[in-house]
Amino acid sequence: MSDSTPQIPIVVGADTLWEGSEGVGETTNPATGAVVATFARGGAAEVERAVAAARTAFDSGAWQRLRPFERGRILARIGELMLERRDVIARLECADSGKPLRDAYWEVDCAARFFEFYGGMVDKMHGSSIPLGPGLADWTVKEPIGVSLHIIPWNYPFQLIARGVAPALAAGCAVIIKPAAETPVSAYEFVKICLEAGLPAGQVNLVNGQGALVGDLLVRHRGVDQVTFTGSVATGQKVLAAAASHAIPTAMELGGKSPQILFGDADMERALPLIANGIFTHCGQVCNAGTRLLVERRQHDAVVAKLHDMAKAMTLGAGIDDPDMGPLISKVRQREVEAYMELAAQEGELLLGADLPADPALAAGNFVRPALVVGVTNAARVAQEEVFGPLLTVIPFDTTEEAIALANDSPFGLVAGVHTTSIDKALHVADSVRAGQIWINAFGVDLDVEFPFGGYKLSGFGREKGLEALASYQQIKNVCIRYTAG
Ligand code: NAD
Repeated sequence: MSDSTPQIPIVVGADTLWEGSEGVGETTNPATGAVVATFARGGAAEVERAVAAARTAFDSGAWQRLRPFERGRILARIGELMLERRDVIARLECADSGKPLRDAYWEVDCAARFFEFYGGMVDKMHGSSIPLGPGLADWTVKEPIGVSLHIIPWNYPFQLIARGVAPALAAGCAVIIKPAAETPVSAYEFVKICLEAGLPAGQVNLVNGQGALVGDLLVRHRGVDQVTFTGSVATGQKVLAAAASHAIPTAMELGGKSPQILFGDADMERALPLIANGIFTHCGQVCNAGTRLLVERRQHDAVVAKLHDMAKAMTLGAGIDDPDMGPLISKVRQREVEAYMELAAQEGELLLGADLPADPALAAGNFVRPALVVGVTNAARVAQEEVFGPLLTVIPFDTTEEAIALANDSPFGLVAGVHTTSIDKALHVADSVRAGQIWINAFGVDLDVEFPFGGYKLSGFGREKGLEALASYQQIKNVCIRYTAG
């Protein structure tokens, strides 16, 4: 750590706090172990201040008093500033989260798209008029829900903050952001941009610290009106219980074990890179990773051989060198993923990909090899549990109905992919798989902010992205008048 090591503060209203009541923490580069930044670690005192700042901002009505098009312009300006600073933000994010540089650029670009998209929505949030007959007029208005808390995981911090905060601000809410302790750096860039673009002080507040302490205190605080949580199922369940203590609504974006169904008639040249990217992007640390490949039996061996070759050819390295795959976020996660690899070797046959990089400069990083496991059934733990690492479980099937049954035999239901040249099979699968999003001959679209995203079953509830996300941040008020004609 040097004197030039960035410092990440807590931001409450107009105040920037360089030290929290729990002191100062450090965040490290997962590829090297080097300190990336120090951050103020909040506690109960900062939670009180952040909620008070957000409440004052919301209750003062300063943001809502602006005309909708003026609010829209400020949100659009936030998007512009993100793009102007994309180099700085992407490099910080790359060091803090370990992801390859191109993925970090994608995060910034996608974050900017959220602000363009929701900035354009602020003056289009119409209510409805409801016919009740003569002498009665009735209509609905959409009002902001109040103070909205955003609890963020470490895998895509900048993009996930934007995903929730942009629609919350568009709806008129005041916001508190609680980043993951592993990746606090880009959140401060986010808050600086918001203030510079003209958001009133207190409209966006930032509290760093341990989730079990400040996250829990924030969720339980009576001054918070709504929670958007993105993270693991286990933590999500704690957040739900805490939110229930004062009966506030939550949006839950949790984990997944998403299937990719590969029929023998698929265009393999197109499908296999999508399947490999779907699991190995950001070292498998993606909620909607396609972690279970269900492949028609006659193609099983050929597909496994090709995917194994692709995995072996992948380069590993520090995010800044833009390798095919970066490291896992922490040593703890590295040990957990290695344990899943050992389990995979017991439950089936583990096909390891590339060797660990020989470069001694990477020896301190949290690297694991991309891997496939074959010869397991869907009942195996590696087919049922979220590994959150670069391990693809491959399971053969014989009929379309069997593929659908396997896809649905999961506690999760975030997304699913289907690869086939038969429109009948594709649409039958899309109708039958219980997941929030079905990809047909695709697995992701660049900078996708326009359509809704969210889970079935243990993958959560509520929807992020698209017009649907606004509902989490709005109350619907009905107004009814009785009048006398003439
Ligand atoms: P996590 O659940 O460990 O932590 C998420 C956040 O919750 C962090 O900010 C953490 O500090 C906070 N937290 C921890 N304990 C808390 C508590 N008791 N009360 C309030 N907050 C608390 O998740 P993670 O390891 O950071 O992220 C990985 C998980 O996130 C995976 O399961 C992944 O699938 C999921 N995820 C889901 C989506 C989605 O959109 N569905 C997107 C990204 C990640």
